[in-house]
Amino acid sequence: MNKLRTLIVGAGISGLALAKGLLDRDLPVHVVERRAEDGGASGTGLYLPANAVRALRGLGVGDEVAKRAQPVARQRLQDHRGRPLAEFEVERIWGTVGPCLAISRGDLHEVLHTAVDEAVVRHDTAVTAVADDGTVSFADGSTSAYDLVVGADGINSTVRRSLFGGPEPRFLGQLCWRFIADDTETSGISDWTARLGDKGRTFLTVSLGTGRVYCYADINSSVPTAPAGDWRTLFADFGGPVPRLLEQGADAYFAALHESENTVWMRPGAVLVGDAAHAFSPSMAQGGAMALEDALVLADTLAKEPDVTRALAAFQARRADRVAWVVAQNHRRDKARNLPTPLRNFTLRRAGERLFKANHAPLHDLP
Ligand SMILES: Cc1cc2nc3c(=O)[nH]c(=O)nc-3n(C[C@H](O)[C@H](O)[C@H](O)COP(=O)(O)OP(=O)(O)OC[C@H]3O[C@@H](n4cnc5c(N)ncnc54)[C@H](O)[C@@H]3O)c2cc1C
Repeated sequence: MNKLRTLIVGAGISGLALAKGLLDRDLPVHVVERRAEDGGASGTGLYLPANAVRALRGLGVGDEVAKRAQPVARQRLQDHRGRPLAEFEVERIWGTVGPCLAISRGDLHEVLHTAVDEAVVRHDTAVTAVADDGTVSFADGSTSAYDLVVGADGINSTVRRSLFGGPEPRFLGQLCWRFIADDTETSGISDWTARLGDKGRTFLTVSLGTGRVYCYADINSSVPTAPAGDWRTLFADFGGPVPRLLEQGADAYFAALHESENTVWMRPGAVLVGDAAHAFSPSMAQGGAMALEDALVLADTLAKEPDVTRALAAFQARRADRVAWVVAQNHRRDKARNLPTPLRNFTLRRAGERLFKANHAPLHDLP
């Protein structure tokens, strides 16, 4: 490929991973990020299913990530009181794909950031618009022209809005709160445990190791705004460690969950990756995996195909079905969470592991 002037907008998971992939293939790149250097990742956690961990290995940062992450060997589904509904060994189900991990967002961000040459990422630099001819406008009033602009700028992507149009992200009818709690190593919280209440309420704990637990709680809602009052009262009837963990959740990160319905990710001179292309419900925790796989596949196609427009089309063609599968599985899982509680519990007890296997089966293949 010719040495294009390439700009990646956004230094999140997809932008940094793509920068690493391109640099490793000797393709020069610049990254701009609107946040300050130390304002990167929020204080929450990430569950990384085996295909995400495999993509991190493919990017050459698998060992660094593994050093900071906690292995997740089992997933447990329980009712809101902690009575078991289903439990399975995720390592056995993913088999040769490899282990699943949990990590703080800050740690993953730092590993990816460190892996990319410092000089390529410019912080405090927001893109405000991109013109059809590749001219990028920045918040400080300056402009610059690029051969290829990559929108890695998340669900509310400026690149997507400037160049692709398409529908705005759709509210999924779910609100969530996330925080990392301190916990004693002997508390018994390990691996990944989701406690399911009625009316779609979920409280998930994921052990991050070294006495830290990532907590994720969600509810159904008809509006994308936080209800009045202290959100923690919504989980007052949950048992086990939940009341104790909630004591640390006063400053939790709130989010209304949205899904992107845009299906066009490329046009001559521009391409979308990660959440800018395809944000969806975190039900399967596949957002990071899809962002990392996008980065690997796009870096690979750009390195192999000298015609950039053809490379971008090949990228979209290779990714579309896999992402569509994840979106469809998320829809099925989101529907299942709203089944009447006795029916949901019965289904999970009878078929929890089988459903999990079926949800993830095509993701065992390489992207
Ligand atoms: C509640 C919740 C829980 C989740 N849990 C998991 C999980 O456990 N595991 C998992 O794998 N995934 C999870 N995800 C999904 C995952 O967080 C995303 O898929 C992933 O972060 C996407 O990365 P990204 O780099 O594409 O976008 P982002 O992480 O959104 O990064 C975009 C970057 O672009 C920057 N930016 C935006 N606009 C501009 C601009 N105009 N100019 C310059 N810079 C800009 C932003 O500051 C940001 O740094 C979850 C998502 C949510 C909402």
